[in-house]
Amino acid sequence: MTTLPRPASVSGFSALGLAPKLIASVTALGYEEPTPIQREAIPLLREGHDLIGLAGTGTGKTAAFTLPMLNRLAMHTTRQPAGARGLVLVPTRELAMQVSEAIHKYAKGLPLTVVPLYGGAPMDQQIRALRRGADIVVATPGRALDHLRRQTLDLSGLEVLVLDEADEMLDMGFADDIDTIITQTPDTRQTALFAVTMAPRIAAITGKHLRNPRRVTIAHEKRAAGKLPRIRQTAYIVGRAQKMTALGRVLDFENPKSAIVFCRTRIEVDELADTLSAHGFGAQALHGGMEQKQRDRVMQLFRKEQAEILVATDVAARGLDIKHVSHVINYDVPTSPEVYVHRIGRTGRIGRDGIAITLAHPREHSFLRSVEALTRQKIDVLPLPSLADLRARRLEATREQLREQLTNGGFEDARTIVEALAQEFDVFDVAAAAVTLVHHAAESTMPAAEIESAAAHDRSRERGRGGDRERPHAATSRTRTTEHAAPMAVLFVGAGKAAGIRPGDLVGAITGEAGVPGHALGAITITETHSLVEVPAARADSILTALRATKIRGQRVTVRHDRG
Ligand code: AMP
Repeated sequence: MTTLPRPASVSGFSALGLAPKLIASVTALGYEEPTPIQREAIPLLREGHDLIGLAGTGTGKTAAFTLPMLNRLAMHTTRQPAGARGLVLVPTRELAMQVSEAIHKYAKGLPLTVVPLYGGAPMDQQIRALRRGADIVVATPGRALDHLRRQTLDLSGLEVLVLDEADEMLDMGFADDIDTIITQTPDTRQTALFAVTMAPRIAAITGKHLRNPRRVTIAHEKRAAGKLPRIRQTAYIVGRAQKMTALGRVLDFENPKSAIVFCRTRIEVDELADTLSAHGFGAQALHGGMEQKQRDRVMQLFRKEQAEILVATDVAARGLDIKHVSHVINYDVPTSPEVYVHRIGRTGRIGRDGIAITLAHPREHSFLRSVEALTRQKIDVLPLPSLADLRARRLEATREQLREQLTNGGFEDARTIVEALAQEFDVFDVAAAAVTLVHHAAESTMPAAEIESAAAHDRSRERGRGGDRERPHAATSRTRTTEHAAPMAVLFVGAGKAAGIRPGDLVGAITGEAGVPGHALGAITITETHSLVEVPAARADSILTALRATKIRGQRVTVRHDRG
């Protein structure tokens, strides 16, 4: 029996000298250890240094600047009326919302308020929020300047300033706005700047506004990659909302014998393993919060190939000696190129080619480039396999199965049927009909809809000044129809997490009661109060009727078409 590394701890975070409340909040979020940028940046920021962080989206940089900022602001909470004590400048409205939500999450339990300010939203609402008191403001430069001019934002008592995605803010022409904003802050402030690379214009802005800054970087571009085994590396660019569906498609397409799917948090691991199982994959969760006995059991199942997918955090997978992994799938981009190399090193062992697949958000392109620089190997950024690709792959698999069966023999009984049919039909036709039957059986589990590629969304990213600089929130959505894809409908189920509903309950009810295979279902979203399930539109009504006539988790629930 294997002994896995001890459940890790939050000690990683404790060692960074953060207040217990902050450690509690990252634990509650399911984080197992600090990411590389957090490990390096947090102690420096906590000691009061100015900082240049060279790290892009996906590295955990938001927590890297937020946790020490909260740590500092929470130490003395006597708030000056109306003055912001922390300011985070970000390039887009979308980021302002995201970062503000993230700060809110990390600040849970602390008496600190966060207010996002971005263009396109009503001014008076923002003014009211500022008047109520905003310890931390997350703003796009244009809108921050608007508020400064109207004197609805006061930065005279600012303690911490963060310039997030500074290179993008400069690309968008915000340099002067940033300068003007900074003149309204005290010299005593602490300043942190995050950018992807140390371009000359970044050097200029840090020279002007940062004092004796320390520099941390997560892309050690010069370090040798070590010997990577032969690994085919692919990345698919997908929006957050489609990730689960994309993972299902990738797993359908690759049909891995043994895969590790890496996620970041314990919570994500549990949810993903649950959802995959509900969709009919043999998936098991592995994370540092599990008892040793449970983890041993999971590893046994995986080693004996009774579970083909292990969904794991980096911490839990560390030190595992697994010899037969055919695929490593990064459900989330790893937190540094080194972690990426470490993860994918688990495949392609014993002289076999391995396959590494990464699902990346459009904003995480720069991460893929840092990995290429580190490994000096190419990552192919490809469109997600289409339904036609999947069909072709399955046909190929059928051919392989037949070839194996023909080599192994043992089909004497079937021969008599062929002989009988051959009296009546051409023997080639008999064989072709048999192949079609086998293939149709495989096709019955085909997903019903195409998935929209997020690459187009990426290309359309707005740059440059002028016009509406702050893009509206670009929600990615699933394509409803394509030439050969069935349209999908969304069903509302009036019970959610609070009622103990898990993906398996919904899929179980639909497959069991309406006879629709799990693979035909799309995304499943479960909130506290309700759930949403994507189903093939053509079957939606029969699924509705079937679900209304049954109980889910022992209770009758409302089921209807989702009205959005
Ligand atoms: P960011 O690079 O700040 O946009 O963060 C990317 C993602 O990583 C977010 O979804 C965070 O919730 C997550 N994250 C940040 N720090 C950690 C950590 N220490 N462990 C696991 N996930 C993390």
